[in-house]
Amino acid sequence: MKKIEDYIRTIVDFPHEGIMFRDVTTLFADPRGFRMAIDLMLHPYAGIEIDKVVGLEARGFILGGAIAHQLSVGFVPIRKKGKLPGAVISESYTLEYGEAIVEIHDDAIQEGEKILVVDDLLATGGTAEAGIKLVERLGGKIVSTSFIIDLPELGGRKKLEAMGKEVNVLCA
Ligand code: AMP
Repeated sequence: MKKIEDYIRTIVDFPHEGIMFRDVTTLFADPRGFRMAIDLMLHPYAGIEIDKVVGLEARGFILGGAIAHQLSVGFVPIRKKGKLPGAVISESYTLEYGEAIVEIHDDAIQEGEKILVVDDLLATGGTAEAGIKLVERLGGKIVSTSFIIDLPELGGRKKLEAMGKEVNVLCA
């Protein structure tokens, strides 16, 4: 049987030189691959109480939507600056070159809600860390974080675990 990593394509030098881009669109496009990814991501949360799934733009929306549907809970997007129409709170974080800002609607999470954060890939952990901070500023409790791919040499997992967060990944 094919493994998750067999469905993921690597594009060299995208979006710029030196980056090995892990392209999960080939995983999403395959009916068995996509189902396997969602089933495996859900596996650690059987019997665990989760109130909402938070997905990080953009591939976290595809995964997070499917996971939220399976858990019968709501889905909340964290988007890049300027995309959400309502009142937001923001967090900035450092990128390789410069800074990025992510936002969440300020009424998207209620005090004490149990939150699962989802994205396709964990690299430096900067995006996920900013997302976690947004959720916690609204009073949400992070139950866990879930990714398809971890790039361990970039330290994201260590960063999130140092914040006391659980990290689940399908492949490294
Ligand atoms: P980071 O904030 O450094 O953990 O980067 C994670 C975010 O950037 C995720 O939303 C990923 O989709 C994207 N990303 C970073 N590096 C890669 C890569 N090598 N291949 C695909 N996506 C990446």
